[in-house]
Amino acid sequence: MHKVPKSVARLTDVRILQLSNNFLTSLPIELQSLKHLTELNLGNNSLKEVPSVLRNLNSLRKLYLFGNHISILAPEVLEELSDLVLLNLNHNQIAVLPAGIKSLRNLQTLSLQDNQLVELPVEIGFLSKMIEMNLTKNLLVHLPREISRLTRLVRLYLARNRLNSLPEELAARLILVENRRRFSVVHRTMTHYPKLSLMLSQCGHCALCLQPFLTTWLECVVFINLRKEMKVRGSQTTVPIRVLLCSYLCFNKKGHPYFGIASV
Ligand SMILES: [Zn+2]
Repeated sequence: MHKVPKSVARLTDVRILQLSNNFLTSLPIELQSLKHLTELNLGNNSLKEVPSVLRNLNSLRKLYLFGNHISILAPEVLEELSDLVLLNLNHNQIAVLPAGIKSLRNLQTLSLQDNQLVELPVEIGFLSKMIEMNLTKNLLVHLPREISRLTRLVRLYLARNRLNSLPEELAARLILVENRRRFSVVHRTMTHYPKLSLMLSQCGHCALCLQPFLTTWLECVVFINLRKEMKVRGSQTTVPIRVLLCSYLCFNKKGHPYFGIASV
């Protein structure tokens, strides 16, 4: 199929649409009638950009665009895709990830395997819900420090790039999380690296999300009322206790009792 027929407009109740393995170079404007579409597969076609009609699909959560000829991600289209949880752009020709990527604030899975990325924008740090990021086979030389803000990130694939190092805190947090799983490769091989093991044993834990961190944290205080919490009698009943939080992500959460300590 080279073109999606305009009669697609009648499929107003469709939730999942598979259009992969065709020769599509564009999509008809009529596609915007599919207001309930949550998943769209456009993999292995001949698209050169993310079709702008997708801006109107407000229910879209999963978008597959692998195996096309996409080289540019237009920020004005990304802006309207803020409800996406999965975006697969594997096997395209994307060299630049625009700062507008931060619009995809609900994204949990981002796949950019086999593209031409030389660097990532610092705005990647805004994608705070990210769980899995696949950057295999690109041209990345370094990663921005801001990637360490992605505290929910569990899987990060970086094979076949040009990286010499990882931001230290990011590497430490990933290893610490993996090391907690008894059957993970990291946990099983850790005994062979006693120095690393010793270094990681000095990690702290976030008072709020309980996740581990190594060298970067926020120092806070919590005020404890001794009379109320510990039934201690006396004149000085409220004392400050030092606690550490893993990130501003945790610090900015509402409803916790921790106060930041201003640094001079
Ligand atoms: Zn935390």
